[in-house]
Amino acid sequence: MIRDLSQVEAPGLEVRTPLCIIGAGTAGIFLACQLRALGVDVLLLETGDRFARSANEMAQTCAQRGIRYRGAEQGRSFGLGGTSVLWGGQMIPLTAADMQARPAVGIDAWPIDHAELTNHLAHVKQRLGLRAGDDAGESALSARRYPGLSAFDPDFALRLSEWLPFGMRNFAQAFADPLRQDSGLVVWLNAGVVRLQCDAAEMGRILAVEARSANGRMLNVRPDLVVICAGALESTRLLLAFDESTSGRLTANGAPLGRYFADHLSVTCGRFACRDWTRYNHAVAPVFSGGVMRTPRLEIAPAAQDRLALTSAFVHFTFVTHGDTGFDVIRSFLRQRQGERQRLGLSPRRLGRVVQDVGAMAYWRVVHRQLWIPRPADLLLQVDIEQVPNWNSRLSLADDLDRLGRKRLVIDWQITPEDIRVIRTVAQRTVQAWDGSRLRNLARLEMTMPLRFDDFETQYDVYHPTGSLRMGSQPANSVTDANLRVWGLENCYVSSTAVFPSAGSANPGLMHLALTARLAEHLASRIR
Ligand SMILES: Cc1cc2nc3c(=O)[nH]c(=O)nc-3n(C[C@H](O)[C@H](O)[C@H](O)COP(=O)(O)OP(=O)(O)OC[C@H]3O[C@@H](n4cnc5c(N)ncnc54)[C@H](O)[C@@H]3O)c2cc1C
Repeated sequence: MIRDLSQVEAPGLEVRTPLCIIGAGTAGIFLACQLRALGVDVLLLETGDRFARSANEMAQTCAQRGIRYRGAEQGRSFGLGGTSVLWGGQMIPLTAADMQARPAVGIDAWPIDHAELTNHLAHVKQRLGLRAGDDAGESALSARRYPGLSAFDPDFALRLSEWLPFGMRNFAQAFADPLRQDSGLVVWLNAGVVRLQCDAAEMGRILAVEARSANGRMLNVRPDLVVICAGALESTRLLLAFDESTSGRLTANGAPLGRYFADHLSVTCGRFACRDWTRYNHAVAPVFSGGVMRTPRLEIAPAAQDRLALTSAFVHFTFVTHGDTGFDVIRSFLRQRQGERQRLGLSPRRLGRVVQDVGAMAYWRVVHRQLWIPRPADLLLQVDIEQVPNWNSRLSLADDLDRLGRKRLVIDWQITPEDIRVIRTVAQRTVQAWDGSRLRNLARLEMTMPLRFDDFETQYDVYHPTGSLRMGSQPANSVTDANLRVWGLENCYVSSTAVFPSAGSANPGLMHLALTARLAEHLASRIR
């Protein structure tokens, strides 16, 4: 059931609920639906409206120090569905090695067993329209569809990611029925949480969650349990503000609230000069299996990580068209359907070309069950790495206020020489391995390595913010515990990629949703 705080007549409302979720984005909607399936009534507060808006449109700009973090402006969406309106929905689990301690690069272990988390994957995938699959089946598929990459080099391990079908990517659409019809799930739109209140005598509990609309309506929620699902930046901001208002309740023991802010770094490190376009397409392009698109990636194997003192990293094969192919038109159309505001860019002059490309794509899809790479396109080698943990890379609060009266966020994102060394080493190893493999007959790989990160031709954060609310087994070196509960607050939890103590080699979505499914079970057992 969806309500709109800005449309309420009374200036102030007060409601009680067993469970309040802050943020109706990817995690908030998924968590609410999981909890409803377990019989728990939920109240969901969303700062945005029915249709998603950008950070700039919501006047949620951050002050930036250090390296500019593009994700603050371009990697967030506010409104029902949150960032699921923008994302690619590429799904792959972290490996067991990703979650272990890696002292050579200063990475702590996750406080949760890998197997305990992967137990939830089959259920999450089934909810999202993907097949559960198993390791043996995955290996057989990789070997069959990518014989060249399977035999690439012992320092690299081949894994395939899966992409959610476009119809399942925007969670406001994928879970539209429960959001609209379930009376046990009340969603308040235009209800931006401005304050978490705790009684002076009961400092270990959140007593009320205060939400406001831009036109001045107020909602005071009195919850038994609270889960913050406001995205990595906003979840951290809410807890920084809470910490400040309680004279350092969360940080008095030195907890790293806002610290270790990190993202995957993604850099174009090589260019392929194709000798045989068709065979190159067969060797590296995404395949379709069971109706789902899968993309190959070569991950640095754990033994090579140890030997070369590397963080987790992988390389993948991308292509960049110049915006005028049938591929671009189809992609824009599908993204528009996902809810993203895209221009189709179909000019009558290009119609013949577009029809030809669409025919080629359909042929490859049906006959080869593979994505066709349009010509011309730049064929690129992309290196993605996990950042080395850095205490000084941090989020904090500014003194100026936004339109809801909350302190603005300051982002001081840092990239260290160690990060650059990891990128460079991975790129060099890949070029060596490519030259020593059979794949060199399909294309020549030329390394394009600039000297400084700022000079990299295509460098970016990939909107996978982690670390600022890291989980751990001790309150002195983490912000949340293994159950995602905020240390020092008996009834407050977080579901966000900000709790990841390390980013590993995977896009965060699948593991984040597995954590969220696990959290739903924990919360339901507390409420019963
Ligand atoms: C372009 C792009 C592509 C991506 N591709 C992938 C991919 O392929 N695979 C992958 O795994 N990940 C991908 N990601 C990352 C992924 O989208 C995020 O990790 C994920 O969506 C985060 O979910 P969330 O619920 O934590 O945050 P969000 O989905 O952003 O939800 C947060 C919600 O909280 C609301 N909110 C914020 N503050 C408040 C407040 N104070 N009060 C009330 N509500 C509030 C927001 O409006 C929003 O609706 C991509 C991201 C981007 C931008």
